[in-house]
Amino acid sequence: MIGHCFFCKVVISFHLQDCKIQNSTREYCKIFATECRALPNFGQLPEVLLLNLIYRPANNIPYATIEDDLEGHFEKYCIRDITGKLHAKNTTEIEQKCCTFQHWVYQWTNGNFLVTNLEGVGWKLTNIGIVTKSKGYHGLNESCCPEVIEEFLSVHKCNSYCDMLSLKSLKATEGLQPPPKPKGSKSPSMGRKSGSAQSSPQIQKKSLTQSPQTTRKGGVSPKATRKATETGDTHSPPKNKGGEESPPAKPQ
Ligand SMILES: [Zn+2]
Repeated sequence: MIGHCFFCKVVISFHLQDCKIQNSTREYCKIFATECRALPNFGQLPEVLLLNLIYRPANNIPYATIEDDLEGHFEKYCIRDITGKLHAKNTTEIEQKCCTFQHWVYQWTNGNFLVTNLEGVGWKLTNIGIVTKSKGYHGLNESCCPEVIEEFLSVHKCNSYCDMLSLKSLKATEGLQPPPKPKGSKSPSMGRKSGSAQSSPQIQKKSLTQSPQTTRKGGVSPKATRKATETGDTHSPPKNKGGEESPPAKPQ
């Protein structure tokens, strides 16, 4: 009997967490892409693959996750190693845009959600890893790791795509208590050009805890895209991820 034994439940919850992490990140990435497309000459954009949980009654391990198959050279753009340390390449266009995406999500979620792992083939991303600032954010109970977010603040280096999106600098937030500034000041040129500490640090970390409206910009209405559903997302027939099991077999 391969019903909902203890093992299956563990497998299911594990897979569900993976799906939740990847598919939430996918939705953020869509909003990110919408904002980027509104900018002239931003260029190509990453896409996070949809990850689904499937039930295969004929298999010994009936639950598995599936997503579109990726063919080509698999690369790691941003990773969190086993010691918990963050590493990000920041050289090629895709690497830089992954870093920018990390920064953008962090800002868009008011510092609550950080994408720590971005890997894939070309612009198609998978194996997403995330951490949240507080336990239970979006139901992601196991992902609470505020110290990793702190680390991100110190290791992230803004690149030209962060600048194009007018993302607020993450530096110079420690130990500074600058005077408050009007909330509305959102000059796109503020920030990184001048390096670090001297540019309106107040906006940075502080504003990330304010209402989302104060941190978003770019003339696109994120709300419109936030409600996007997966309805249009059928791609080519998906294949098994990881290949640990064969596809649904004929019942014996
Ligand atoms: Zn940045």
